[in-house]
Amino acid sequence: MTEQHKFFLSENDIPTAWYNILADFPEPLPPVIHPGTLQPIGPDDLAPLFPMSLIMQEVSTDRWIDIPQPVLDVYRMWRPTPLIRAIRLEQALNTPARIYFKYEGVSPSGSHKPNTAVAQAYYNKIEGTKALTTETGAGQWGSALAMAGKMFDIPVEVYMVKISYHQKPYRRSLMSIFGAEVIPSPSERTQAGRAVLEKDPDSPGSLGVAISEAVEVAATSGGAKKYALGSVLNHVMLHQSVIGLETQKQLEMAGEEPDVMIGCIGGGSNFAGFVSPFVREKIVDGKQTRIIAVEPAAAPSLTKGKYVYDFGDTGEMTPLMKMYTLGHSFIPAPIHAGGLRYHGMAPIVCHMYDLGLIEARALHQNPVFEGAVLFAQTEGIVPAPESAHAVRAAIDEAVAAREAGEEKVIVFNLSGHGHFDMSAYDAYLAGKLVDYELSEEEIDKALANLPQIA
Ligand SMILES: *Cc1c(COP(=O)(O)O)cnc(C)c1O
Repeated sequence: MTEQHKFFLSENDIPTAWYNILADFPEPLPPVIHPGTLQPIGPDDLAPLFPMSLIMQEVSTDRWIDIPQPVLDVYRMWRPTPLIRAIRLEQALNTPARIYFKYEGVSPSGSHKPNTAVAQAYYNKIEGTKALTTETGAGQWGSALAMAGKMFDIPVEVYMVKISYHQKPYRRSLMSIFGAEVIPSPSERTQAGRAVLEKDPDSPGSLGVAISEAVEVAATSGGAKKYALGSVLNHVMLHQSVIGLETQKQLEMAGEEPDVMIGCIGGGSNFAGFVSPFVREKIVDGKQTRIIAVEPAAAPSLTKGKYVYDFGDTGEMTPLMKMYTLGHSFIPAPIHAGGLRYHGMAPIVCHMYDLGLIEARALHQNPVFEGAVLFAQTEGIVPAPESAHAVRAAIDEAVAAREAGEEKVIVFNLSGHGHFDMSAYDAYLAGKLVDYELSEEEIDKALANLPQIA
């Protein structure tokens, strides 16, 4: 018998409501607090930055939140995404395990990020926002929001880290094709940008500075412009739940119960969206699924960070969130090519970890790229370097299943393709990537400027 490779749902199977894990946590999420008053923040504190419907989603504990029809109509362009059995990878590993991956790289910008970009653009449009501001590093989020802005006819301003703007021009081109304005950061347009340029006119920029610029432009626009964030926040995790809800249906079609589920974590959104319906099954039905979050050893927030209140950005402009953090002044080693560079982690993912609902693992970049190349050579898809962390962990689990002689079902999320990341692959193939582990000393140093909260 030939084994089935792909599990496709019909367009009618696209979820019509997002799943909100805040409804099912056995303990509530720690509140977000104001850095001045140290009191929990309310919706009004966020109103200068986000439309009220997204703020209400941010704090909602409703289990299901309906997806508006215009958002579903855009999702339909690429959703449902396929669940694919990696049969050739299984054969190459000679493993009794069955490996499945959910493939989010079929979206127009090549990752899971449009799942939230489209929703955010929609809510901003109906609440009258005149333009969206955001930051981008390598350009995945910027290109997703640029596309979504075009779909809902809302201009998008992207502050792009200057060194990426010059070294990674193709994502910049994609954003321009989708009609966004791309500004190299630090720029002369903001107080935050000018302050950096004054000290160092040749500053290469950083994600932290770009966030500060995008936030400043929105906060000082008198309500005309709002800010959009591609990860970390609760409403982003909510929108990404379409990934996990579809995966649940597809595993049912395949007649499989997952033993192990795996996703990579940068800010935590593709992971949270993929696993939250399965975390619910652990909480509500007592299922024993192992759920693994994979991060780079060069930016190990869950495995080496501290679970404390910290700022979301380098410029100390955001509210304080309780998260596993390496400190908001953390900057990853320049040699690190694997993405996933954020200093903190989504509070929802941190809460899952703190409650013992998920495991975490940190991997070095050479084995990660080695796994990605094996995946490309067997399955034909070049993973995004971020997604490659999940690929490697799935390979390691499949090898462990072989050694134990166990028929495990391993399911991972392939959050995007790597077609814009060839320079990282070139560096790996040329033997130029160095495995870099953050030392305890560096972590202590970065954690020294945490805000002091009693
Ligand atoms: C942005 C990105 C990530 C990391 O962000 P999360 O919020 O952790 O999902 C992972 N994979 C791809 C392909 C990305 O573009």
